Amino acid sequence: MSDLIPIFKLLHNKKSIILTGAGISCNAGIPDFRSSSGLYVKAINNSKLKGKEVFDVSILQTGAENVAVFAQFMNDLYLDIQQAQPTATHRFIDDLITKEGTTGCIRCYTQNIDDLEPTKDKVVQLHGNMTRMKCTSCGVQKPWDSNTHKTLSEGYLPPCESCLETQELRILSGKRSASYQVGAMKPDIILYGEFNHQHAENTLNCVKQDLKSNPDILLIMGTSLKVHGVKNLVKMFAKKIHTKKLGKIVIVNKEKLKGWEGIIDEHIEMDCDSFVNCYNSWRDSLKPVVRKASPAVRISKLSTPPSTPTKQRVKDFLAVTPSSTLSSSSSPRSRRTSKAPLTPSSTPTSGRKRVGIDQSMVLNTPTKRSRTIPSRSNVLKKLEAQAA
Ligand SMILES: [Zn+2]
Repeated sequence: MSDLIPIFKLLHNKKSIILTGAGISCNAGIPDFRSSSGLYVKAINNSKLKGKEVFDVSILQTGAENVAVFAQFMNDLYLDIQQAQPTATHRFIDDLITKEGTTGCIRCYTQNIDDLEPTKDKVVQLHGNMTRMKCTSCGVQKPWDSNTHKTLSEGYLPPCESCLETQELRILSGKRSASYQVGAMKPDIILYGEFNHQHAENTLNCVKQDLKSNPDILLIMGTSLKVHGVKNLVKMFAKKIHTKKLGKIVIVNKEKLKGWEGIIDEHIEMDCDSFVNCYNSWRDSLKPVVRKASPAVRISKLSTPPSTPTKQRVKDFLAVTPSSTLSSSSSPRSRRTSKAPLTPSSTPTSGRKRVGIDQSMVLNTPTKRSRTIPSRSNVLKKLEAQAA
């Protein structure tokens, strides 16, 4: 833990940029792209395609069979995403983004397309967003609905209604319909080989603005940094941040990356949620202790199993504790995290600092959105009911 404290201080007291990848959503139940159980493997099931080809724009021009693989895979992925909830890492980033004052996270760049970020303000979705559909021709956007689900599950991309209207008007006005190409609706994500000028310009404007803001730390979380454009983003921020005496480029990832000497200063080989739990524990330790736990609190802890959802634990706690004994600066969460044994071990290695941790020492709290998690069958039933 002591190795992590200088990093925690930078995150808490200075301006940060955060860059995230699939690793932060794995604990939400969304598989990553490249692992043996990842999205690529799932995508090529029962097809002759290679995993990456499902995310390449050329798949849309290689025949109905491949379009069907793309459509059905995207529909499955959408249903997975509907059941996923933000993790402790999503909440940690959100807390830093909404932190009052001039410190905190000034921008989060994410490669994820799951739209799990609680706050969209100051978040740049580098590769788009699975929860919207977009026309391949005119660019019109629309939310995912029951017809989208039905058409994709049958292996087709829905035609763009806006393009169809334009085509009809052209026919009515005597223009040749063949000269107008009706687009198809596909998820609003950036595929390999696809270039979205407007999207790229927006990202570039954000980067320019962030470089001017003089960030102190770039925190990279849950990514193996394989995408060319993302590598360049890291290098640009590193160049700027390294002009500061205390500036740091830090990565939290389960596996150490190679080839980043002189650019990434600290490799923390750890699950992202575990890192966040350590940070929360450290941050909570900064708060002054207002009072000791009353006997009533101890009773409530004993009577409530640790696996009970947080909301229920708070409810149980309130049921046995008089409201007058509660202090605003001593929330149930801060009490819980401050008592947890969260001290990781550290393992220095040659050349570059690596931080290890005993996973059994980490309180790994599942994170829930306030709404009830729909089961896959419930999501399907809802979409089918809308279609009926
Ligand atoms: Zn269109």
